[in-house]
Amino acid sequence: MELVDQFLRKINYLRISVTDRCDLRCVYCMKENMNFLPKNEILTLEEIERLCDNFIDLGVEKIRLTGGEPLVRKDIIKLIEKLNYKKNSTNLNEITLTTNGTLLKTYSYNLKQNGVDRINVSLDTIDEDKYNQITRFGKINNVLDGINEAKKNNIKIKINTVVFKNFNESELEKLIEWSNLNDLDLTFIEVMPMDETDTPRDLQFVPLNEIYDKLNIIYNFTKTNYKTGGPAKYFKSDKLKIKVGFITPLTNNFCESCNRVRISSTGKLYMCLGQNEYVDFREIMRSDRNDNFIQDKIRFALSLKPKRHDFIINSEIKPYMKRHMNVTGG
Ligand code: SAM
Ligand code: SF4
Repeated sequence: MELVDQFLRKINYLRISVTDRCDLRCVYCMKENMNFLPKNEILTLEEIERLCDNFIDLGVEKIRLTGGEPLVRKDIIKLIEKLNYKKNSTNLNEITLTTNGTLLKTYSYNLKQNGVDRINVSLDTIDEDKYNQITRFGKINNVLDGINEAKKNNIKIKINTVVFKNFNESELEKLIEWSNLNDLDLTFIEVMPMDETDTPRDLQFVPLNEIYDKLNIIYNFTKTNYKTGGPAKYFKSDKLKIKVGFITPLTNNFCESCNRVRISSTGKLYMCLGQNEYVDFREIMRSDRNDNFIQDKIRFALSLKPKRHDFIINSEIKPYMKRHMNVTGG
């Protein structure tokens, strides 16, 4: 079975936010004072599994758990364990995670035991004080210990770094060198205009084509065909053993090859990160509909998947998405 949208893009990748909560408050992701949702609005683990089953039936091969911080969700390992069983009997072939890494010291062993071989860890700086500043109160040693533990357990890690104006632009070379030393691929990401945080988005945004040009003088990059299923374009350099990726939703649209959809922690299926339309599956599941109905609704949702996102960042307009990034995750 294949899921294909109205523009004939094959959709085989599902990202699920398992919680809107987080143990950090990154300044580009959340406001300092966030209201999180009451528990009864969040999908139960059984509801998440049921949605996954239906997407797998329709052709999904890869599932990424995200958040908020996926590892703060109670019993997350039980969900991963259940999803992992499906790898033997269905077309599902990968379960992965986007995490801030703070709890990897505790969970790496269990993740590996339950079939998670590859994860993305978000880290915007390797300076202790700056890390504390960008996350509002995080302690970098938790993440560094977590990364070491994941490596010990043979989990392959990719570092994700949001490039944030007047914060980390001048230390990207340092981050590349640190990642190279630790044998971790690294991807830079442009700030996206999700719902408002405490600073206007145009004061946060750095176009990555400019960053690429500066780094290219040092590294003389060559483009690779390497793909991980996501939107990053990867480059290699004779000076590096790692690959360096760039995710550029604003300066270089990649929607033509989009292969994914996202489910929020409340069960809303967002067909595009950069649009506000959704189909609500929580109400469908809680109103006792059968799986045929769910699958018809998934196909319907896919027929609405837009051609491209509508992200714009400038000081005059505020076309912010009506949700923060922790609603759908990255
Ligand atoms: N808490 C986990 C983490 O930080 O990896 C998973 C969820 S977090 C929302 C997923 C990714 O989105 C992180 O890499 C984070 O840096 C990124 N992110 C958050 N807000 C963003 C924004 N406005 N623009 C671009 N990336 C953003
Ligand atoms: Fe939490 Fe991830 Fe958002 Fe940072 S980016 S506040 S770690 S959800």
